[in-house]
Amino acid sequence: MRCAIIADIHANLAALAAVLADIKQKGGVDELWCLGDMVGYGPDPHQCLELLRQLNHVGVVGNHDLAAIGKVETTYFNADAVAAIQWTAKQLTPGDIRYLENLPMKLEMGDFTLVHGSPMEPVWEYLISTGIAARNFAYFSSRFCLVGHTHIPATFKKEKGTCHSIGFSPGIGIVLGEDRMIINPGGVGQPRDGDPRASYAIYDSEGKIMRLYRVPYDIGATQDKMMKAKLPIHLVTRLQEGR
Ligand code: ZN
Repeated sequence: MRCAIIADIHANLAALAAVLADIKQKGGVDELWCLGDMVGYGPDPHQCLELLRQLNHVGVVGNHDLAAIGKVETTYFNADAVAAIQWTAKQLTPGDIRYLENLPMKLEMGDFTLVHGSPMEPVWEYLISTGIAARNFAYFSSRFCLVGHTHIPATFKKEKGTCHSIGFSPGIGIVLGEDRMIINPGGVGQPRDGDPRASYAIYDSEGKIMRLYRVPYDIGATQDKMMKAKLPIHLVTRLQEGR
């Protein structure tokens, strides 16, 4: 079975469409696994959810999804994020809200646990270091865990009791063996590792190989829509910088 792992779409329809086209061009997948933050920041929250709902997918909820439907306080967000959340809330249809309300915080799919932030704190924790990763292995029972939230591709491996990062670059296939791992496919709609191209991964269960892909998309088209919607300028410019 092949599945695509996509995280942090953040209402960026041009980025999502480019990723879906790239998946198709690579022979397609059987399932899409979404790691949360489908909405927030970007200009097309409803359109992204509508497109997702047409696809064979499963998903977990992210902090921006919960904030957009009023399920978490916006005090934990910065001013730009709050402005985007308030704008997003007005764009969602009753169907969109129902969809987001029904997303679980944690999902087990075979050998994988899916969460947005971390297995320990599925909504809020940023899994950004080997130290944080190390203590999170106790919080999921499957062999592997998939996380998003940081918008930065990363892999953490637990080997003989110690945890280390083994890197995750486009074009390099990572074979998933006996050792437990935590994997982040990077962000589709707002990458933050200095590469503005949309980021996602494909897992092929036959060879147990996980591959990272980066996909160029029409960043200007998304930025135009954000300007028209009067979303904060910093959210617009960061897309071109991948920060
Ligand atoms: Zn996010």
